[in-house]
Amino acid sequence: MKIQVSNSNAPVWHEATVSADLPAKLKPLEVIAKNLWWVWNSDAKNLFRDINPDMWRATGENPVMLLQRLSSERLEEMLKDSEMMGRIESVYKSFNDYMATPMRSDIPSVSYFSMEYGLCNCLKIYSGGLGVLAGDYIKEASDSRVDMTAVGFLYRYGYFTQTLSVDGQQIANYEPQNFNQLPIEQVTDEDGKPVILEVPYPGRIVYSHIWRVNVGRMKLYLMDTDFDLNSEYDRSITHQLYGGDWENRIKQEYLLGIGGMLMLKKLGINSDLYHCNEGHAALLNLQRLVDYVQEKGLNFNTALEIVRSTSLYTVHTPVPAGHDYFDEGLFGKYMGEFPARLGISWADLMNMGRENPDTNERFSMSVFALNTCQEANGVSWLHGEVSKKMFAGIWKGYSWEESHVGYVTNGVHMPTWAASEWKSFYAERLGEQVFANQSDPKAWEGIFNVSDEDIWNLRMRMKNKFINFVKRDFKAKWLANQGDPSAVMSIVDKINPDALIIGFARRFATYKRAHLLFTDLDRLAKIVNNERFPVQFVFSGKAHPADGAGQGLIKRILEISRMPQFLGKIIFLEDYNMIVAKRLVTGVDIWLNTPTRPLEASGTSGEKAEMNGVLNFSVLDGWWYEGYKFDEKAGWALTDRRTFTDQAQQDKLDAATIYSMLENEIVPLYFEKNSKGYSPKWIQYIKGSIGHIAPHFTMTRMINDYIDRFYNPEKKRSTALKADDFKLAKEIVAWKESVVEKWNGINVVSLDIKEANPNLTGEKLDVTAVIDTNGIGKDLGLEYVSYRVEDGVEHLYETKQFKVTKTDGNVLTYHLDEKVRDTGVFRYGFRLYPINPNLAHRQDFAFVRWI
Ligand SMILES: *Cc1c(COP(=O)(O)O)cnc(C)c1O
Repeated sequence: MKIQVSNSNAPVWHEATVSADLPAKLKPLEVIAKNLWWVWNSDAKNLFRDINPDMWRATGENPVMLLQRLSSERLEEMLKDSEMMGRIESVYKSFNDYMATPMRSDIPSVSYFSMEYGLCNCLKIYSGGLGVLAGDYIKEASDSRVDMTAVGFLYRYGYFTQTLSVDGQQIANYEPQNFNQLPIEQVTDEDGKPVILEVPYPGRIVYSHIWRVNVGRMKLYLMDTDFDLNSEYDRSITHQLYGGDWENRIKQEYLLGIGGMLMLKKLGINSDLYHCNEGHAALLNLQRLVDYVQEKGLNFNTALEIVRSTSLYTVHTPVPAGHDYFDEGLFGKYMGEFPARLGISWADLMNMGRENPDTNERFSMSVFALNTCQEANGVSWLHGEVSKKMFAGIWKGYSWEESHVGYVTNGVHMPTWAASEWKSFYAERLGEQVFANQSDPKAWEGIFNVSDEDIWNLRMRMKNKFINFVKRDFKAKWLANQGDPSAVMSIVDKINPDALIIGFARRFATYKRAHLLFTDLDRLAKIVNNERFPVQFVFSGKAHPADGAGQGLIKRILEISRMPQFLGKIIFLEDYNMIVAKRLVTGVDIWLNTPTRPLEASGTSGEKAEMNGVLNFSVLDGWWYEGYKFDEKAGWALTDRRTFTDQAQQDKLDAATIYSMLENEIVPLYFEKNSKGYSPKWIQYIKGSIGHIAPHFTMTRMINDYIDRFYNPEKKRSTALKADDFKLAKEIVAWKESVVEKWNGINVVSLDIKEANPNLTGEKLDVTAVIDTNGIGKDLGLEYVSYRVEDGVEHLYETKQFKVTKTDGNVLTYHLDEKVRDTGVFRYGFRLYPINPNLAHRQDFAFVRWI
């Protein structure tokens, strides 16, 4: 026998996080660290920073880790530092005062589901805009005292951090998070043992831990399957955000929707409404259906009526390819048992996720969301329109213009994204009222009375802060990945506070067109190398690890940034995250955005810039389509007219427009400096952006829109539906069922169209229709629908209702006698539809018969 050289299995490690026991007088710090209120309250955040600035940075702005690492000498020192102790006391008092105010009870309670939350840098459960939006939203729920509970995942690896190789290749690093070092708390039972949620998956139970993130007054509950009760295969469900294959994705979405609902039940949380942030969480409505059927004994249709009336779906993706679709086989593997629980067939369930029922289409999460949510919305006015078109195929009897899909334009959480320097400035110059009334432009009017010089000085202060941040944090990174130390030093030396600095940072998805600026390198070189009017560009952003084109773009920008003519003029900051984002949106002069219209559903980074006196130069897409119109002398827009259908041609034209606007308008305006060193016209732009634009894009405005447009109306209607043991819901279902039964028996007896002069304007249309309603009677409506061609595109022009003029048993006579039309080319038709004032909208029961 040959003896093996060694024999060892893999180590079995046990985790222990040993931290200093804080002295009693410093305990408030522990409390504050475990509530993300500190993220948006600068006194608290700066307090943590000042305890040990280097460590604060080294921990990625993580107060829990900071407190765990403090030496006993430093703790001793703090106790003797009366100024520091005074600050702790004062922050603790503000925190307790804040927490003492209860949530409002006059507006509905809401459970909010999202795959990601961007709350602070150290909690790596976000990838980009969608997550930051969700994070901002729940912070605002706390500030606005909306009784909201949020549901998501605690990822072991989260989204990747980005490093760049010497040749410009993006390297995605996944580092495991130690949950004991995060500003979160595990949910435990009375004995202090972790609560374990059991989620039935086909053939097994998947177990989940529950973690609570205190976000001011509101709570975010996170699920985590990465522990030893689960098989390796299931532990990985919560490993990565947007990682793995489709099977992993359905396992995740199953956990988010089904598991999320079971978790809320276990925690005893029962909300009035359920809000699905993107389609990922839509299966929550499947679990809710099961609950109504199994626990309340409702039949499927009544359960659906209730579930729909209490849910809202927010779509963020403007192209169908961006939505989640599951093959029937894979979907069946996970969802196969649900139809039996609901008393429906497998085909019924599949059809709830299909635009065209009874085809072999894959199961679409967004179609399912639309079929189980009464209301749906896009995230800007323009994206609302795009979404109406995108989803029009689901309600075939209606044109996209008639869709109930609405919009709420995204906003940003001002206390998080305005620099603490600006917040102090606003408090001092505009009064504290500006925070309470931040969405009201009147509250901001005072900005126009502030002296130009003060604004300029503050802008320069922020710019220098940004430059110091770049020099300090990036020198080391560049030295590591650029090879040539002298080149790195010359980049660092060249960053110039007197230059016009333009920022461009976002996901490197190709539609964002980061390459646009580099279409004509000679022209760009002239712009950045103008001695009198220097311009610099700062780029940052990650590409999805599966997006080769996006990674290619990053590589290309790095190559260009190393060309002699661009060295130190075009700078790339690696690992775009919330810390880099904040420095950028507060520190540059201009925020540039060049997406292909209309693919930027909203975008929010430009909104962050507005409240920091940083001006937008952007394609008229997403939020800027609205923002620019509030003050066209407070930023710049690339026109929304499309000249070429060929994208490459359009890109060229857009690039030329960007260059010439920079050369002829923007750069000269910035450098039209007076004897005090600033351009008074530029300051006017800044004042306009703060006073006229920023207030419209705050989270306060956004949450109020959700309350007014969706939460309140849904609460009102669903309360009526549920009353008296679901009486109204049952009535509506009985009525719908009877209409469905009779629908195919509707018979058009006659249709008589009298048109004296069809080609003249203002002519009356005199139409009489005799319809055998097959017992539907007056609940069957008839309407005239016309379309007009404008600029080669057909638009819905008008609809007019017929009056019932005679009833003869089941046979009704309908009559229309009205002036219709203006000049133009029209097409028109007549359609029958069911009428019931208790319906939420036409798409609630989209039965249509054209006659
Ligand atoms: C605000 C923010 C975003 C969203 O930016 P857009 O590109 O405007 O959608 C993405 N990532 C981070 C880190 C952010 O802070």
